[in-house]
Amino acid sequence: METDVAVIGAGVQGCAVALRLAQAGRRVLVLERAVPGAEASSAAGGILSPGVEAEEPGPFYDLCAASLARYRAFAEELERLSAQWVGFRGGGTLQLAFDDAGARVLAARAEKLLGHGVPVEVLDGEAVLRLEPGLHPGVRGGIWFREEASVDPRLLARALYVAAHRSGARFLTGQVLRIAHGKGRAVGVDHDRGRIEAGAVVLAAGSWSPLVEGSGLPAGAVRPVRGQIALLDTRPPLLSRVVFSEKGYLVPRADGRVLCGSTMEEVGYERGVTAGGLSAVLALALEMAPDLARAAVLETWSNFRPASPDGWPVLGAAAAPGLFYATGHTRNGILLCPITADAVSAAILGRPPPVDLGPFSVRRLGPR
Ligand SMILES: Cc1cc2nc3c(=O)[nH]c(=O)nc-3n(C[C@H](O)[C@H](O)[C@H](O)COP(=O)(O)OP(=O)(O)OC[C@H]3O[C@@H](n4cnc5c(N)ncnc54)[C@H](O)[C@@H]3O)c2cc1C
Repeated sequence: METDVAVIGAGVQGCAVALRLAQAGRRVLVLERAVPGAEASSAAGGILSPGVEAEEPGPFYDLCAASLARYRAFAEELERLSAQWVGFRGGGTLQLAFDDAGARVLAARAEKLLGHGVPVEVLDGEAVLRLEPGLHPGVRGGIWFREEASVDPRLLARALYVAAHRSGARFLTGQVLRIAHGKGRAVGVDHDRGRIEAGAVVLAAGSWSPLVEGSGLPAGAVRPVRGQIALLDTRPPLLSRVVFSEKGYLVPRADGRVLCGSTMEEVGYERGVTAGGLSAVLALALEMAPDLARAAVLETWSNFRPASPDGWPVLGAAAAPGLFYATGHTRNGILLCPITADAVSAAILGRPPPVDLGPFSVRRLGPR
């Protein structure tokens, strides 16, 4: 078998890069061992928040902001191509404090962010409750990232797969065993079904990226960090926008479902929802919004964030010519999907990148 580009993994990164390459007229083959969107991409909360995640302004904040700026058009494009809704929802995100000291810390943070041009508004407890009357009445303050949003990752992953497929990308089920190298460059992959020759290879295998032989990733460049989620049902809807505290978050969907997340666990690739994890997630949810105590538990799940040592993604060219990375997105892979697609496809096509990928290069993580 032969193709212009072989993409390893059909999570949101693999599908989005494949979509852009197919739109540019390349023959693209996406190799997925399970079903598209099977792993982290369908397990995420779907929070699109550069402000809350990027502690300090800098290249990572800029990357997150560039991706958020693309999101509405990206969602509309996917909906047009796939004829499916992706659940994009504005209204901003709210970071909350439940005591006075916490409120002061948030206000100081907002001042710093405002100084760097990040759009954020400081609210007192009453103003928070006017926006979200379903929160704990003792909330002392918050900061509101007005322009931020959320999306439903399960719908997004499905729509991305359909959009890439309809745009000409082909999908093949099966495991990639290794990236094949020849004459100092990547020349394809060895797959369950045999050798696939490719002009370029994209590693987008999420938390499993370092397990693909020949990846060229330095030790520890990507590791799994487990997160557990509980999905509750509220009728009528209790919340209308994403809310955070220091320890976790609630992500409301338009139909009243509320995702409660999440743990950050270093347990390797051990799957599972645990009593301890679930109780921590639910305790935090009830602390933020006590009325959730009456909500039905619809579902629980866990999956793995593909975590890099600094939390930044690993994007662009590998040391070996012909090999490219779209991995290591850690807690922000849903947010960073549109910019990843544009930047990694540009690198493969030899076009000017929409952002400087230097800070996100694998080189920052040390020698192999
Ligand atoms: C609980 C939780 C909550 C999260 N919340 C958010 C959030 O609110 N906002 C946000 O922006 N991000 C969030 N994230 C992070 C986000 O989900 C990830 O960063 C993102 O989904 C990574 O996408 P991916 O395509 O790289 O990985 P994945 O979706 O994991 O896809 C990788 C794919 O590669 C396939 N694969 C692996 N190895 C092979 C192989 N050898 N051969 C063939 N196929 C292979 C897998 O089957 C899988 O389908 C969250 C993650 C978790 C776990």
